[in-house]
Amino acid sequence: MKKYDVIVIGGGPAGIFAAGFAALSGARVLLLEKKRRCGSKLLITGKGRCNVTNSETDPRRFSEVFGRNGKALLTALYAFGVDDTINFFQERGLPLKIERGGRVFPEKGKAIDVKKVLDRFVVTSGVALRTSCTVQKIHSEGGLLTSVDTSVGKFAADRFVIATGGLSYPETGCTGDGYDWAKKLDHSLIVPEPALVPVFLAENWTRELSDFNLKNVHVAVQQQGKIMTERFGEAFFTAGGIGGPIILDMSADIRAALKRGEVQLLLDLKPAVELGLFDKRLQRELAAHSNKAFHNSLDNLLPKDMIPLFLRLSGIAAEKKCHSVTRTERNKLLSLFKALELTVTGVEGFKKAIITSGGIPLNEIDMRTMCSRKVANLYFAGEIIDLDGPTGGYNLQLCWSTGYLAGISAAGC
Ligand SMILES: Cc1cc2nc3c(=O)[nH]c(=O)nc-3n(C[C@H](O)[C@H](O)[C@H](O)COP(=O)(O)OP(=O)(O)OC[C@H]3O[C@@H](n4cnc5c(N)ncnc54)[C@H](O)[C@@H]3O)c2cc1C
Repeated sequence: MKKYDVIVIGGGPAGIFAAGFAALSGARVLLLEKKRRCGSKLLITGKGRCNVTNSETDPRRFSEVFGRNGKALLTALYAFGVDDTINFFQERGLPLKIERGGRVFPEKGKAIDVKKVLDRFVVTSGVALRTSCTVQKIHSEGGLLTSVDTSVGKFAADRFVIATGGLSYPETGCTGDGYDWAKKLDHSLIVPEPALVPVFLAENWTRELSDFNLKNVHVAVQQQGKIMTERFGEAFFTAGGIGGPIILDMSADIRAALKRGEVQLLLDLKPAVELGLFDKRLQRELAAHSNKAFHNSLDNLLPKDMIPLFLRLSGIAAEKKCHSVTRTERNKLLSLFKALELTVTGVEGFKKAIITSGGIPLNEIDMRTMCSRKVANLYFAGEIIDLDGPTGGYNLQLCWSTGYLAGISAAGC
């Protein structure tokens, strides 16, 4: 049985960073990945464009988006922060660009280019890589991990990094194996839940508009007439409901509210224009098309694809002359633009969750080194840890930072 200094389990972004930086620190490292290739999830990140990090370079402000527990991430962020991530990719020939909300993407917008850089990093840093290699069992002795049984044989090491991710998008290899091992090693587990998920709606017309981008919209989450939370930004309808960054970012609140009762979303398609002003705009459009059929008056107000839906929902006959549209009808139209009410019926599960919340509790990890407080030669990195951020590149930065720190710590630096 071959013995290594460090075995890293899981070839996602966190595991690749842990393995690469452990090897660069002088350790003999073996990286074990279940799938045929490392980083399969990376290819679907950011809709195939991979939002590698966020441009917020201040570790304190960066950590705040992770909520109350975010400060646990500070050491990792000081060790390998946003600037380091940007330099890492740019120095390896991948120029990056910053988009709205500080989202950092490869300039050419291709997630595969991020994966290529990481594949090269594994090779050049001297990591021994075994793919199509599922870790099936872990062995410990005297309170320390000693070896792992895999689908291709047994491997031993002095130290181990578990970076097996969570439970989201299981087809990318994430089936929660690391949670089971951690429990076996006396760790507890904050119950994993699907996070950053699309929302199901009762309205069956969403399918007609699926994947049609709603840019610069405002969505409020309402329960019993009270606004619970709200966001401005980008969303899109799906076959069964609504998704997109602002919906994903509110999905945890929506899930919690659903446990208490009925939930509606109020979609404002014209958030830049206040209600009274938009009413005047509507009146102007109707007046300008006075003798024309009502459906003509919507051309300047709505994308073409949405007009048939608005005609149906408004209940105003498409051929009715604009001058005959009543005040009640206009008010109905106004409410469709400024507060289109959508009925939430549920939230998606792990199958479509961007990340998994919960995981290994922070108080069971020494976040200055990423070392387990239960097993002295075990380290954790990435999504398996009980930290989850909003959309915007924060979750991958968590992987780069904790992967780096786990790697250099496991290498004994
Ligand atoms: C659709 C989608 C889009 C996303 N877009 C973004 C984005 O643009 N920006 C962003 O910041 N975040 C994004 N995320 C989140 C981001 O992808 C994750 O936070 C990140 O991949 C977690 O990395 P990880 O290394 O911890 O785990 P993973 O990437 O999940 O990797 C874990 C690896 O471990 C392997 N593994 C599991 N069990 C075993 C085993 N028993 N033996 C061997 N190997 C095993 C798996 O095969 C997998 O390759 C997105 C996620 C999804 C699903």
